[in-house]
Amino acid sequence: MRAWFNRPALTALALILATCSCTTSWTMRGSLPSPKAVLPSTSPSPAPSTIGSAAAPSGPGRPDVGTHGSAGFGDPDYPESGNGGYDVESYVLDLSYDPDSNKLRSTAHLNATVTSREALSRFNLDLQPTMNVSAVTVNGTAASFLHEEAELVVRPVAPLEPKSALVVEVRYSGMPAVVRGGRGGAPDGGWYRTKSGGAFAAGQPISASAWYPVNEHPGDTATFAVTATVAHGWKVISNGLPQTTDLPNPGHGRSVFRWQLDQPIASYLTTIYIDTFTTVEETLRNGTPIISAIGPDVEGARELASRTSAVIDVLASYFGPYPFDAAGGIFPGESSTHIDLETATRPIYTGAHMHSVDIVVHEVAHQWFGNSVTLKRWSDICINECFASYAVWLWHENVDGTDLNARWERQMRSAIADPAFWRSPLVAMPPGEEFTSVYDRGPLALHALRNEMGDDAFFTLLEKWPATYGHASFDDLEAFASRVAGRDLGPFMDAWFRGTTLPPEELRYPGNLGQ
Ligand SMILES: [Zn+2]
Repeated sequence: MRAWFNRPALTALALILATCSCTTSWTMRGSLPSPKAVLPSTSPSPAPSTIGSAAAPSGPGRPDVGTHGSAGFGDPDYPESGNGGYDVESYVLDLSYDPDSNKLRSTAHLNATVTSREALSRFNLDLQPTMNVSAVTVNGTAASFLHEEAELVVRPVAPLEPKSALVVEVRYSGMPAVVRGGRGGAPDGGWYRTKSGGAFAAGQPISASAWYPVNEHPGDTATFAVTATVAHGWKVISNGLPQTTDLPNPGHGRSVFRWQLDQPIASYLTTIYIDTFTTVEETLRNGTPIISAIGPDVEGARELASRTSAVIDVLASYFGPYPFDAAGGIFPGESSTHIDLETATRPIYTGAHMHSVDIVVHEVAHQWFGNSVTLKRWSDICINECFASYAVWLWHENVDGTDLNARWERQMRSAIADPAFWRSPLVAMPPGEEFTSVYDRGPLALHALRNEMGDDAFFTLLEKWPATYGHASFDDLEAFASRVAGRDLGPFMDAWFRGTTLPPEELRYPGNLGQ
């Protein structure tokens, strides 16, 4: 999927989608102009899978006045990811889940604001086709909707004025599943089952749309809360802090849990874990709760969970105060995936690294680099992954006294002899290559940058970056680094981050490296 279109075509498509102000009449069956109809496609759009209708005034046949929110956020590499026309401020989910049948029932409440310049007559949410939508309301009034593939197209009873409040409620149910390959060659993500019969949601860039309707792009961050009802004996953990007051009555033989995160995050950072896990609680020195969930018989998890506090202390000494009001980890044990992901406040650890604190350092570092400062587009992923990977270097320098220059020179010796190591750039890489070179070439480039800038300036960059930015691009990082260094780092950044070959000799050994 990564080579659907070439890059100029994708950019042009994103522009078309972002500026679409179509006036085609709404038709209920089969001929609603799919957002994909503007693609240079050789196959017809598939038939809609679900069509819903509100009362007559909002039904088919009403003149289509106003603008359509685009079916993509405008990301050149993932043109269908996210949507346009609105900005979400909060997701509030009220769901029930039965692990035995994998059946999920939910009502999602979205609080948003209309961002289109003209009145918004139609907008999209991302929701995988494994979910069946039964009703949608917009600002309290039933709305028409059409669910086609992973796009839920909603048509409110009347166009929504620019900058007006948009409150959407979606009732749906289904059997959530893994989204294979994501989009554009991205990794799998979505809803995973555990060996112990439970389930958890994780994935990057696609996961949230597997279990709730969402503007699935990190460019739209929102607060998140979930109230989950399960059969007695099962437990639920999610992002943020547990809420224990004013919970609904779950009914006989059932338990209810509510989790809430009040700081806005990208949707791939939301998660839920339902299982018969054990909860381990500690606190940071400032009182911030550290709450971890350890799946049944998961070896090594308790030891790793206990390292979270020390890891946060060390990383905060470089990156500034820990940016969330909760911390912890989720250790679901075996499942069909091996994923470690920096889900907000509570990373998920299922990968093959359960023996090493390095993975905790990496995922906790993301709470600053990726979660507090969020990507504007996926091809800027280095501002997440390069830094989280380099955080592991800093940890070992801090805790074990590792000589990082020696480590860098060792790795450079093998990298110099390997042209393939440099083939994938750290910025604007081809779609589907976001999660490759950033993990090994990334820290090498950042250690070179540290030597180029000098320790004082580089550590200023590390500390000030999370405090300065909310959404950011790599260009923002480059400009910020140049500002902190007091000189133009452009040629250096081009060679080390954007190039596809070994950096030229005059830029290869900055500072004391290679002496
Ligand atoms: Zn990472």
